[in-house]
Amino acid sequence: MSSGGNDNAGAAQRWRESIMQTYGTPPVELVSGSGCEVTDVEGHTYLDLLGGIAVNVLGHAHPAVTRAVSEQIATLGHVSNFYSHEPELRLAERLLTLIGAPDNGRVFFCNSGSEANEAAFKIARRTGRPGVVAASEGFHGRTMGALALTGQPTKREPFEPLPSGVEHVPFGDTAALEAAVNEETAAIVLEPVQGEAGIVIPPEGYLRSAREIADRAGALLILDEVQTGIGRTGHWFAFQREGVLPDVLTLAKGLGGGLPLGACVGIGEAAAMLNPGQHATTFGGNPVCCAAALAVLDTIESEQLLRHGAGLGEELVTMIERLGHPLVAEVRGAGMLIAVELNEKLASVVVETARQRGYLLNPVRPDAVRLAPPLVLERQQAQRFVRDLGEVLSEALAMSTGGEEGTR
Ligand SMILES: *Cc1c(COP(=O)(O)O)cnc(C)c1O
Repeated sequence: MSSGGNDNAGAAQRWRESIMQTYGTPPVELVSGSGCEVTDVEGHTYLDLLGGIAVNVLGHAHPAVTRAVSEQIATLGHVSNFYSHEPELRLAERLLTLIGAPDNGRVFFCNSGSEANEAAFKIARRTGRPGVVAASEGFHGRTMGALALTGQPTKREPFEPLPSGVEHVPFGDTAALEAAVNEETAAIVLEPVQGEAGIVIPPEGYLRSAREIADRAGALLILDEVQTGIGRTGHWFAFQREGVLPDVLTLAKGLGGGLPLGACVGIGEAAAMLNPGQHATTFGGNPVCCAAALAVLDTIESEQLLRHGAGLGEELVTMIERLGHPLVAEVRGAGMLIAVELNEKLASVVVETARQRGYLLNPVRPDAVRLAPPLVLERQQAQRFVRDLGEVLSEALAMSTGGEEGTR
């Protein structure tokens, strides 16, 4: 199926000679996928426990997505935002209902998580206040505005100066948040669970406190659910666990069933702070991506995947903990977003060892392995993985010569 050298080494060579070196060279070329399994150019199959980084909620080639996309591209593929279309309207209405803002919410569709956060940042600027308070280690994307919100200095520093006014405070620390927010604060920007920081779950009540702190200062609460939204944590949106409603919600990864689709949702006053001409995108909310998203939402509902993901995610955490492996320091999970924290910086070694045994994982931190599997993962597949994980961890530990850095 590949056009060049039909093996992984050949693909790696071509990658190095044609793709900009912003990522590490991928170890394999994937050619097809079905459900939670993918196959590489050499015919090896893998259980995909990363799901395209929390994107493939329904796995690969789900018939509902395949059908929706095929029918839509054969009917109306792209129209620009000068014209409306049914998939976009239905998707906006559907999202607002799921969010719990059917009457006072409005959606801006875009193509990625970064773009959704750029729109949110622009809404914050429209308050007329200069400041934004975000969280240390938080991740909001790689475009300049999203990067300014991101609390990871190594990602920011090569690109300074960034848009100004953003202050970062320790995540999960209500007192620090309270101390930083004042009448100059336009918005508080948080992930409900920090994804790229290594699946960091804040103390219970943190989002409720953030909501109160924002209200007292007259600031917006912007929740970045690019990674946690669309069922990932066992709820449609992670904010629903604490019963709060943000002013702005950003979505992307799981939304489009593998197609590029992001959304910035404004609720209440924030729904009307960007005026005609103040923001736009050519591709955002195109009919094909919206049709895919509707298929995702319908399928999550009809296959009861929120409950399935919440239950299986919890089981996975328990099963991995029960391994009692000496390399495992802690297992953290929110639904199907799980991190295995290691005692040593061996995440890359663990991930490569697991890959050779047929499992795709991600070294989210040098000492933490991330699982963000499709919500359609089957219990037997999860059990098979955990059965092999013990050996994978032991092998990684044996191979280690004192630590290795992660690549992402
Ligand atoms: C992935 C991610 C982003 C960036 O999304 P892109 O589609 O890569 O631009 C933003 N915020 C969070 C929380 C993410 O996990």
